[in-house]
Amino acid sequence: MELTELKYECLKCGICCSLPKNRRCYNSNYIKRIPLYPEEVDRLIKIAEERQIPLKVKEDLVFPDILNKKILILTYRFILEPFGHCVFYDPKIGCTVHETKPFACQAYPLALKRIDAFNLEISIDSTCNWIDKHYNALKEVDINRIRNIFSEEFKKAEAFLRKNKKLQLEIRKMEAEKKIEIARQISSNYFSKALKNWDRNEIRVN
Ligand code: SF4
Ligand code: SF4
Repeated sequence: MELTELKYECLKCGICCSLPKNRRCYNSNYIKRIPLYPEEVDRLIKIAEERQIPLKVKEDLVFPDILNKKILILTYRFILEPFGHCVFYDPKIGCTVHETKPFACQAYPLALKRIDAFNLEISIDSTCNWIDKHYNALKEVDINRIRNIFSEEFKKAEAFLRKNKKLQLEIRKMEAEKKIEIARQISSNYFSKALKNWDRNEIRVN
């Protein structure tokens, strides 16, 4: 198929909402990360309570603020156990929170890849089934082609990227104002103790 004809169309297979079935393909430390901002978690908790379903999330991207002895939470992630998939995923109909699903799910199969400590870029997630099927055609695509192939998802990925940039800026602003101090070098032992003992502070931006 010519690249110019290629248009992303979700296969509704649910792989992106589930733990990999063949765990042998992944090492034992593999963690599936679907990032969730604190305000997204609030919204999902409300829906889960209304539907009486057991939503579980865990802190994911966190920084230790050594000035206030607090753990700053930027994102959480879904716990996919024990069902092996997101609690909002229904194998018969797919995502049941389609209208309000998190940024990461709206943008998928586009994701944000870290290029250095402060910068991220939009990339294609190769674990998507559709990407796998078109892997050879997609291997060499540049950002303009990605924009055309994933027209709707690209807009969502740009919004996702903007939100991340705002969060990074907020952290830097708080540091510049000496409201927080993020440890750039910290031993894993100290960090583990802090994770257990320090209070939490969610960082939220609109
Ligand atoms: S919120 Fe919807 S799209 Fe996102 S992981 Fe859950 S079921 Fe899948
Ligand atoms: S893995 Fe890809 S094709 Fe399958 S449901 Fe998710 S986004 Fe769609």
